[in-house]
Amino acid sequence: MAGYNQGIPGGSVGRAVTLAMPELHPTPVEGCEICGEQAVLRTAAFKRGDHSAVSDANARIRNHQHHRNTR
Ligand SMILES: [Zn+2]
Repeated sequence: MAGYNQGIPGGSVGRAVTLAMPELHPTPVEGCEICGEQAVLRTAAFKRGDHSAVSDANARIRNHQHHRNTR
């Protein structure tokens, strides 16, 4: 019968459960001032519950890809 779906391997794949951060947060590159600064801002923003500032800092770190090109 259609809808009888046995093709799913393993059923539910465990999602990465983040206990603190609501979304994936990129790791700042050590030695990069911009990334480090955003990481500090992100931590401060998270502590005061400013989620928009957290995702803002995350986006800046994520978009800061100069280190991939230079190293
Ligand atoms: Zn950087």
